Amino acid sequence: MPNPEDFKLITAGRLIDARGGPPIQHGAVLLQGTEIIAVGPATEVAAPEGAPVEEFDYPGMTVMPGMIDCHTHHNGIGDGRSGDDLATLPDEVLTLQSARNARASLFSGVTSIRENGPKNLTMFRLRDAVNQGLAIGPRMVLCGRPVAIVGGHMGYFGGEVTGPVEVRALTRQLIKEGADYIKITATGGSTRTSFPLRPSFDVEELRAATDEAKKFGKLTATHCLSSEGITNSLDAGVDMIIHCTYRDADGSDNFRQDIAERIGEQGAFVNPTIHVARSSVWAIKRSAETQGNLTRDQQAAMDIGLRNLEQRLEDCRRMIDMGLKVITGSDSSWGDYKLGNTVYETELLVQAGYTPMQGVLSVTVEAAKALGIDAIVGTLEPGKEADIIVIDGDPSTDIDALWNVRDVFRAGNRIERGSAESLQSVRQQPA
Ligand SMILES: [Zn+2]
Repeated sequence: MPNPEDFKLITAGRLIDARGGPPIQHGAVLLQGTEIIAVGPATEVAAPEGAPVEEFDYPGMTVMPGMIDCHTHHNGIGDGRSGDDLATLPDEVLTLQSARNARASLFSGVTSIRENGPKNLTMFRLRDAVNQGLAIGPRMVLCGRPVAIVGGHMGYFGGEVTGPVEVRALTRQLIKEGADYIKITATGGSTRTSFPLRPSFDVEELRAATDEAKKFGKLTATHCLSSEGITNSLDAGVDMIIHCTYRDADGSDNFRQDIAERIGEQGAFVNPTIHVARSSVWAIKRSAETQGNLTRDQQAAMDIGLRNLEQRLEDCRRMIDMGLKVITGSDSSWGDYKLGNTVYETELLVQAGYTPMQGVLSVTVEAAKALGIDAIVGTLEPGKEADIIVIDGDPSTDIDALWNVRDVFRAGNRIERGSAESLQSVRQQPA
């Protein structure tokens, strides 16, 4: 039985430390317990003379920080069902589903997640279980449940409030329960009783949440499907804009340079969630393959989906060009997008204009900064937690290599990930 404080030495063909420089050829990372002790060229990194050390060698592969997904829905099933239907499931079932998702996500190389909308206490319970060793999963940055208006997006998860006093009270309640940040739905969304193009909370209500969160050192993020929702969020000093679709109240797409500039000036992070749109297009294509043709409704839904996808890619390209802090957040398992497939979102950020290396940073160090956990994870540096993945290939030149995860270390522990078949089953294939 190895001592948990023993050393581990990981060597690989190349090392990406995610500190902004080029990969180090023939790199090494030395761990002790849960912590990274040393990082550098393999010739310069070694355990102290005579100390017990377990060695892992990955010739030709890449060692890098574990991926960080800034936007997950662990309660989700990813089979196309709506949030309204999902929320009718008992909390116990949703907690079990979350455990399954957490495992799939960790196995895929994601070592930290930020959960964006679970029901009631389900994710707090899962985190407790993981901490007790009853389940496995990534590090979790939790919101408890989203803050919503009555009938608003995701109100069905248990966080409907009205007016600044109730918003403040719910914010305090969530922090009391263990929330690490506050998620607010600033516009409607797919929720049946909500209005996706209309703002939900007034600025005064949003500000009650952001002020209260700031007081306790917590970050905030808002779901925004319209330009007005983004503007209200910026007025309230929100730290991350989710979806960030520039839509007017009549549904027309209209990229707003002025609003995008404000996002940059205020230093807010942007989570564009592009693949969730593509995944719904894939789902329609897949059902067309099984039934032989598309119904008129499916054709219409696919046309809308394709236009939406194009628009999101285009908006994202502009925001990347402007130097906004665009990070990876998958929005899975939502709609047809299952957890364990975060890389699809990073891939689309690269398609929208990031270099592969910037794509890698968007799912490691930049994601860590966006979640306020960059002092702990996000890079390979001495003193940080040893959340590390090994990739067959070089993601700094080919982002698709991120699919080829060969090993995952979470807090210094190598994760036993099961058979190649079970790992393969996590991957959703394109239609
Ligand atoms: Zn979401």
